[in-house]
Amino acid sequence: MEKYDIVVIGAGPAGLTAALYALRAGYKVLTLEGKAVGGQIVNSTKIKNYPAVIEISGPDFAKNLRTQVENHGGIIKLEKAESVISNGEGWTVKTDMDEEYSAAAVILATGATPRALDLPNEERLVGRGVSYCATCDGNFYKDKIVAVNGGGNTALYDALYLADLAKKVYLIHRRDEFRGDKALVEQLSQKDNVEFVLSAQISKIVGDEHLEKIILDNGRELTVDGLFVAVGYKPQNEIFKEVVALDEDGYIKTEDGVHTSAKRIYVAGDARKKELKQLTTAVSDGAIAATTAIQEM
Ligand code: NAP
Repeated sequence: MEKYDIVVIGAGPAGLTAALYALRAGYKVLTLEGKAVGGQIVNSTKIKNYPAVIEISGPDFAKNLRTQVENHGGIIKLEKAESVISNGEGWTVKTDMDEEYSAAAVILATGATPRALDLPNEERLVGRGVSYCATCDGNFYKDKIVAVNGGGNTALYDALYLADLAKKVYLIHRRDEFRGDKALVEQLSQKDNVEFVLSAQISKIVGDEHLEKIILDNGRELTVDGLFVAVGYKPQNEIFKEVVALDEDGYIKTEDGVHTSAKRIYVAGDARKKELKQLTTAVSDGAIAATTAIQEM
Protein backbone atom coordinates (compact mmCIF):
# COMPACT_ATOMS: atom_id res chain seq x y z
CA MET A 1 0.00 0.00 0.00
CA GLU A 2 1.39 3.43 -0.95
CA LYS A 3 1.87 5.68 2.07
CA TYR A 4 1.34 9.43 2.09
CA ASP A 5 1.28 12.12 4.72
CA ILE A 6 -1.89 13.58 3.28
CA VAL A 7 -4.42 12.26 0.79
CA VAL A 8 -6.59 14.97 -0.72
CA ILE A 9 -9.86 13.77 -2.24
CA GLY A 10 -10.96 16.07 -5.04
CA ALA A 11 -8.80 18.04 -7.48
CA GLY A 12 -10.79 21.25 -7.74
CA PRO A 13 -9.38 24.61 -6.62
CA ALA A 14 -9.83 23.75 -2.91
CA GLY A 15 -8.20 20.32 -3.15
CA LEU A 16 -5.33 21.40 -5.38
CA THR A 17 -4.60 24.42 -3.18
CA ALA A 18 -4.55 22.14 -0.13
CA ALA A 19 -2.10 19.87 -1.97
CA LEU A 20 0.07 22.83 -2.99
CA TYR A 21 0.33 24.16 0.57
CA ALA A 22 1.15 20.75 2.03
CA LEU A 23 3.73 20.06 -0.69
CA ARG A 24 5.41 23.40 -0.13
CA ALA A 25 5.65 22.52 3.56
CA GLY A 26 7.56 19.37 2.59
CA TYR A 27 4.85 16.74 2.94
CA LYS A 28 4.13 13.79 0.68
CA VAL A 29 0.72 14.36 -0.86
CA LEU A 30 -1.57 12.38 -3.14
CA THR A 31 -4.60 14.01 -4.75
CA LEU A 32 -7.36 11.74 -6.02
CA GLU A 33 -9.89 12.88 -8.60
CA GLY A 34 -12.82 10.83 -9.85
CA LYS A 35 -13.83 13.02 -12.79
CA ALA A 36 -11.78 15.81 -14.31
CA VAL A 37 -8.98 17.80 -12.69
CA GLY A 38 -10.14 21.34 -12.02
CA GLY A 39 -13.61 20.70 -10.62
CA GLN A 40 -16.47 23.12 -11.22
CA ILE A 41 -14.21 25.99 -12.22
CA VAL A 42 -13.56 24.40 -15.63
CA ASN A 43 -17.19 25.28 -16.42
CA SER A 44 -16.52 29.01 -15.94
CA THR A 45 -15.88 30.85 -19.15
CA LYS A 46 -14.42 33.97 -17.55
CA ILE A 47 -13.19 34.64 -14.05
CA LYS A 48 -12.94 38.34 -13.39
CA ASN A 49 -13.13 38.50 -9.61
CA TYR A 50 -10.01 36.65 -8.57
CA PRO A 51 -7.78 39.26 -6.92
CA ALA A 52 -4.92 40.52 -9.06
CA VAL A 53 -5.93 38.39 -12.04
CA ILE A 54 -7.66 40.67 -14.50
CA GLU A 55 -9.26 37.84 -16.42
CA ILE A 56 -8.68 34.13 -16.84
CA SER A 57 -10.78 31.26 -18.13
CA GLY A 58 -11.75 28.44 -15.75
CA PRO A 59 -9.91 25.78 -17.78
CA ASP A 60 -6.72 27.92 -17.79
CA PHE A 61 -7.00 28.51 -14.06
CA ALA A 62 -7.33 24.76 -13.46
CA LYS A 63 -4.44 23.97 -15.81
CA ASN A 64 -2.14 26.46 -14.06
CA LEU A 65 -3.02 25.14 -10.63
CA ARG A 66 -2.44 21.55 -11.71
CA THR A 67 0.95 22.48 -13.18
CA GLN A 68 1.85 24.30 -9.97
CA VAL A 69 1.00 21.22 -7.88
CA GLU A 70 2.90 18.88 -10.20
CA ASN A 71 5.91 21.22 -10.30
CA HIS A 72 6.05 20.84 -6.52
CA GLY A 73 6.15 17.06 -6.84
CA GLY A 74 2.45 16.50 -6.23
CA ILE A 75 0.92 13.27 -7.47
CA ILE A 76 -2.56 13.48 -8.97
CA LYS A 77 -4.32 10.21 -9.79
CA LEU A 78 -7.55 9.92 -11.74
CA GLU A 79 -9.16 7.47 -9.35
CA LYS A 80 -12.44 7.83 -7.51
CA ALA A 81 -12.21 7.45 -3.76
CA GLU A 82 -14.76 4.88 -2.64
CA SER A 83 -14.17 4.76 1.09
CA VAL A 84 -12.10 6.18 3.91
CA ILE A 85 -11.47 3.71 6.73
CA SER A 86 -9.52 4.05 9.96
CA ASN A 87 -6.38 1.90 10.04
CA GLY A 88 -5.48 2.54 13.64
CA GLU A 89 -2.66 5.01 12.94
CA GLY A 90 -4.46 7.10 10.36
CA TRP A 91 -6.69 6.52 7.36
CA THR A 92 -6.85 4.18 4.40
CA VAL A 93 -8.48 5.46 1.23
CA LYS A 94 -9.78 2.82 -1.18
CA THR A 95 -10.47 3.70 -4.80
CA ASP A 96 -12.45 2.40 -7.76
CA MET A 97 -9.19 1.11 -9.25
CA ASP A 98 -8.90 -1.34 -6.33
CA GLU A 99 -6.01 0.66 -4.91
CA GLU A 100 -5.46 1.53 -1.27
CA TYR A 101 -3.53 4.51 0.03
CA SER A 102 -2.70 5.23 3.64
CA ALA A 103 -2.35 8.70 5.07
CA ALA A 104 -1.93 10.38 8.42
CA ALA A 105 -4.54 12.95 7.36
CA VAL A 106 -7.23 13.20 4.72
CA ILE A 107 -8.67 16.38 3.23
CA LEU A 108 -12.13 16.05 1.71
CA ALA A 109 -12.51 18.50 -1.16
CA THR A 110 -15.11 16.75 -3.27
CA GLY A 111 -17.01 19.93 -4.11
CA ALA A 112 -20.44 19.67 -5.62
CA THR A 113 -22.04 18.61 -8.92
CA PRO A 114 -24.62 20.50 -11.00
CA ARG A 115 -28.15 20.09 -9.74
CA ALA A 116 -30.74 18.76 -12.18
CA LEU A 117 -34.29 19.97 -12.57
CA ASP A 118 -35.44 16.38 -12.07
CA LEU A 119 -37.98 16.58 -14.87
CA PRO A 120 -39.03 13.67 -17.08
CA ASN A 121 -36.91 13.52 -20.28
CA GLU A 122 -34.13 15.62 -18.73
CA GLU A 123 -31.63 12.83 -18.18
CA ARG A 124 -32.51 11.09 -21.45
CA LEU A 125 -31.82 14.25 -23.46
CA VAL A 126 -28.46 15.07 -21.88
CA GLY A 127 -26.07 15.44 -24.80
CA ARG A 128 -29.08 15.77 -27.12
CA GLY A 129 -30.10 19.28 -26.18
CA VAL A 130 -29.84 19.30 -22.40
CA SER A 131 -26.55 20.41 -20.87
CA TYR A 132 -25.14 21.48 -17.51
CA CYS A 133 -22.05 23.17 -18.93
CA ALA A 134 -22.20 26.09 -21.34
CA THR A 135 -18.42 26.28 -21.75
CA CYS A 136 -18.29 22.61 -22.69
CA ASP A 137 -21.28 22.43 -25.02
CA GLY A 138 -22.05 26.01 -26.06
CA ASN A 139 -20.24 25.69 -29.36
CA PHE A 140 -22.73 23.08 -30.58
CA TYR A 141 -25.40 25.80 -30.51
CA LYS A 142 -23.86 28.36 -32.86
CA ASP A 143 -26.70 30.36 -34.47
CA LYS A 144 -29.30 28.21 -32.70
CA ILE A 145 -31.92 28.98 -30.09
CA VAL A 146 -31.10 28.13 -26.50
CA ALA A 147 -32.50 28.61 -23.01
CA VAL A 148 -30.59 28.98 -19.77
CA ASN A 149 -32.38 28.18 -16.54
CA GLY A 150 -31.27 29.71 -13.24
CA GLY A 151 -30.82 33.04 -11.50
CA GLY A 152 -27.33 32.82 -10.00
CA ASN A 153 -23.96 33.83 -11.42
CA THR A 154 -23.53 30.55 -13.25
CA ALA A 155 -26.73 31.15 -15.24
CA LEU A 156 -25.79 34.78 -15.91
CA TYR A 157 -22.29 33.92 -17.10
CA ASP A 158 -23.68 31.05 -19.19
CA ALA A 159 -26.23 33.37 -20.83
CA LEU A 160 -23.52 35.94 -21.60
CA TYR A 161 -21.29 33.27 -23.11
CA LEU A 162 -24.11 31.78 -25.18
CA ALA A 163 -25.31 35.21 -26.35
CA ASP A 164 -22.08 35.50 -28.36
CA LEU A 165 -22.70 32.17 -30.05
CA ALA A 166 -26.41 31.51 -30.31
CA LYS A 167 -29.04 33.28 -32.36
CA LYS A 168 -31.28 33.72 -29.32
CA VAL A 169 -30.97 33.08 -25.60
CA TYR A 170 -33.92 32.82 -23.23
CA LEU A 171 -32.84 33.30 -19.64
CA ILE A 172 -35.48 31.68 -17.46
CA HIS A 173 -35.64 32.29 -13.73
CA ARG A 174 -38.30 31.36 -11.22
CA ARG A 175 -38.17 34.69 -9.36
CA ASP A 176 -38.81 38.22 -10.57
CA GLU A 177 -35.18 39.21 -10.08
CA PHE A 178 -31.84 37.49 -10.43
CA ARG A 179 -29.76 36.36 -7.50
CA GLY A 180 -26.46 36.91 -9.36
CA ASP A 181 -24.37 40.07 -9.80
CA LYS A 182 -26.21 43.18 -10.97
CA ALA A 183 -23.35 44.07 -13.32
CA LEU A 184 -23.88 40.83 -15.21
CA VAL A 185 -27.63 41.41 -15.41
CA GLU A 186 -26.90 44.88 -16.80
CA GLN A 187 -24.54 43.43 -19.42
CA LEU A 188 -27.17 40.88 -20.43
CA SER A 189 -29.89 43.48 -20.70
CA GLN A 190 -27.76 45.23 -23.37
CA LYS A 191 -27.76 42.13 -25.57
CA ASP A 192 -30.35 42.20 -28.34
CA ASN A 193 -30.58 38.42 -28.55
CA VAL A 194 -31.19 37.79 -24.84
CA GLU A 195 -34.71 37.64 -23.48
CA PHE A 196 -35.36 37.49 -19.74
CA VAL A 197 -38.20 35.14 -18.86
CA LEU A 198 -38.86 35.86 -15.19
CA SER A 199 -41.23 34.38 -12.62
CA ALA A 200 -41.36 31.19 -14.64
CA GLN A 201 -40.32 27.61 -14.12
CA ILE A 202 -39.82 24.88 -16.65
CA SER A 203 -42.52 22.29 -16.19
CA LYS A 204 -41.90 20.08 -19.25
CA ILE A 205 -38.96 19.17 -21.42
CA VAL A 206 -40.22 17.90 -24.77
CA GLY A 207 -38.27 15.93 -27.34
CA ASP A 208 -37.89 12.50 -28.79
CA GLU A 209 -34.47 12.03 -30.35
CA HIS A 210 -33.47 15.60 -29.53
CA LEU A 211 -34.76 18.45 -27.39
CA GLU A 212 -37.58 20.20 -29.25
CA LYS A 213 -39.21 22.57 -26.82
CA ILE A 214 -39.73 23.46 -23.20
CA ILE A 215 -43.03 24.30 -21.59
CA LEU A 216 -43.18 26.78 -18.72
CA ASP A 217 -45.53 26.71 -15.75
CA ASN A 218 -47.31 29.80 -17.13
CA GLY A 219 -48.20 27.81 -20.24
CA ARG A 220 -45.69 29.50 -22.55
CA GLU A 221 -43.91 27.17 -24.96
CA LEU A 222 -40.39 27.90 -26.15
CA THR A 223 -38.98 26.10 -29.16
CA VAL A 224 -35.29 25.63 -28.36
CA ASP A 225 -32.36 23.60 -29.62
CA GLY A 226 -30.54 23.65 -26.32
CA LEU A 227 -31.31 23.95 -22.63
CA PHE A 228 -28.56 24.86 -20.20
CA VAL A 229 -29.52 24.02 -16.64
CA ALA A 230 -27.71 26.23 -14.11
CA VAL A 231 -29.71 25.82 -10.93
CA GLY A 232 -26.88 25.37 -8.45
CA TYR A 233 -24.91 22.46 -7.18
CA LYS A 234 -25.34 19.57 -4.77
CA PRO A 235 -22.69 17.87 -2.63
CA GLN A 236 -21.45 14.34 -3.22
CA ASN A 237 -20.41 13.12 0.19
CA GLU A 238 -22.43 9.88 0.45
CA ILE A 239 -19.30 7.72 0.58
CA PHE A 240 -18.02 9.55 3.64
CA LYS A 241 -21.17 9.27 5.74
CA GLU A 242 -19.83 6.35 7.79
CA VAL A 243 -16.78 8.29 8.82
CA VAL A 244 -17.76 11.99 9.06
CA ALA A 245 -21.05 13.58 10.06
CA LEU A 246 -23.12 15.08 7.23
CA ASP A 247 -25.92 17.60 7.60
CA GLU A 248 -29.48 17.06 6.34
CA ASP A 249 -28.52 18.29 2.84
CA GLY A 250 -25.51 16.00 2.56
CA TYR A 251 -22.83 18.64 3.27
CA ILE A 252 -19.95 17.74 5.59
CA LYS A 253 -20.63 19.13 9.05
CA THR A 254 -17.99 21.44 10.46
CA GLU A 255 -18.03 23.89 13.35
CA ASP A 256 -15.10 26.00 12.22
CA GLY A 257 -15.07 25.43 8.45
CA VAL A 258 -12.17 22.98 8.46
CA HIS A 259 -12.49 20.21 11.11
CA THR A 260 -14.93 17.37 10.49
CA SER A 261 -16.33 15.07 13.17
CA ALA A 262 -13.41 12.66 12.55
CA LYS A 263 -9.89 13.19 13.84
CA ARG A 264 -7.44 14.21 11.09
CA ILE A 265 -10.08 14.36 8.39
CA TYR A 266 -10.58 17.90 7.18
CA VAL A 267 -12.92 19.55 4.71
CA ALA A 268 -12.26 22.26 2.12
CA GLY A 269 -14.42 23.96 -0.50
CA ASP A 270 -18.02 23.38 -1.50
CA ALA A 271 -18.26 19.97 0.20
CA ARG A 272 -19.28 21.95 3.29
CA LYS A 273 -22.10 24.43 3.62
CA LYS A 274 -20.88 27.99 3.26
CA GLU A 275 -22.17 31.45 2.65
CA LEU A 276 -19.90 32.42 -0.19
CA LYS A 277 -19.05 29.78 -2.77
CA GLN A 278 -16.35 31.45 -4.76
CA LEU A 279 -12.99 30.58 -6.19
CA THR A 280 -11.35 32.85 -3.62
CA THR A 281 -13.07 31.07 -0.73
CA ALA A 282 -12.34 27.63 -2.19
CA VAL A 283 -8.60 28.28 -2.40
CA SER A 284 -8.68 29.87 1.04
CA ASP A 285 -10.35 26.73 2.42
CA GLY A 286 -7.68 24.56 0.80
CA ALA A 287 -4.85 26.57 2.33
CA ILE A 288 -6.47 26.48 5.78
CA ALA A 289 -7.22 22.74 5.61
CA ALA A 290 -3.63 21.87 4.65
CA THR A 291 -2.12 24.18 7.26
CA THR A 292 -4.41 22.82 9.98
CA ALA A 293 -3.66 19.21 8.98
CA ILE A 294 0.09 19.89 9.16
CA GLN A 295 -0.17 21.59 12.55
CA GLU A 296 -2.09 18.66 13.97
CA MET A 297 0.09 15.86 12.57
P1 NAP B 1 -26.74 29.62 -7.02
O1 NAP B 1 -26.14 30.95 -6.77
O2 NAP B 1 -27.08 28.72 -5.89
O3 NAP B 1 -28.02 29.86 -7.92
C1 NAP B 1 -28.85 28.82 -8.29
C2 NAP B 1 -30.06 29.42 -8.98
O4 NAP B 1 -30.88 28.37 -9.45
C3 NAP B 1 -30.90 30.30 -8.07
O5 NAP B 1 -31.26 31.44 -8.77
C4 NAP B 1 -32.09 29.41 -7.74
O6 NAP B 1 -33.29 30.13 -7.61
C5 NAP B 1 -32.21 28.58 -9.00
N1 NAP B 1 -32.81 27.27 -8.73
C6 NAP B 1 -32.47 26.36 -7.79
N2 NAP B 1 -33.22 25.25 -7.91
C7 NAP B 1 -34.08 25.48 -8.95
C8 NAP B 1 -35.09 24.72 -9.57
N3 NAP B 1 -35.38 23.48 -9.16
N4 NAP B 1 -35.74 25.25 -10.60
C9 NAP B 1 -35.44 26.49 -11.05
N5 NAP B 1 -34.49 27.27 -10.51
C10 NAP B 1 -33.81 26.77 -9.47
O7 NAP B 1 -25.79 28.71 -7.96
P2 NAP B 1 -24.74 29.14 -9.07
O8 NAP B 1 -25.28 30.19 -9.95
O9 NAP B 1 -24.27 27.89 -9.68
O10 NAP B 1 -23.56 29.76 -8.24
C11 NAP B 1 -22.94 29.02 -7.19
C12 NAP B 1 -21.86 29.90 -6.56
O11 NAP B 1 -20.78 30.06 -7.46
C13 NAP B 1 -22.37 31.32 -6.24
O12 NAP B 1 -21.80 31.74 -5.03
C14 NAP B 1 -21.86 32.12 -7.39
O13 NAP B 1 -21.68 33.49 -7.08
C15 NAP B 1 -20.55 31.44 -7.68
N6 NAP B 1 -20.13 31.64 -9.08
C16 NAP B 1 -19.15 32.54 -9.34
C17 NAP B 1 -18.72 32.74 -10.65
C18 NAP B 1 -17.61 33.71 -10.93
O14 NAP B 1 -17.35 34.56 -10.10
N7 NAP B 1 -16.91 33.64 -12.06
C19 NAP B 1 -19.32 32.06 -11.71
C20 NAP B 1 -20.36 31.18 -11.41
C21 NAP B 1 -20.74 30.98 -10.09
P3 NAP B 1 -33.55 31.09 -6.35
O15 NAP B 1 -32.86 32.38 -6.66
O16 NAP B 1 -35.03 31.18 -6.34
O17 NAP B 1 -33.01 30.39 -5.15
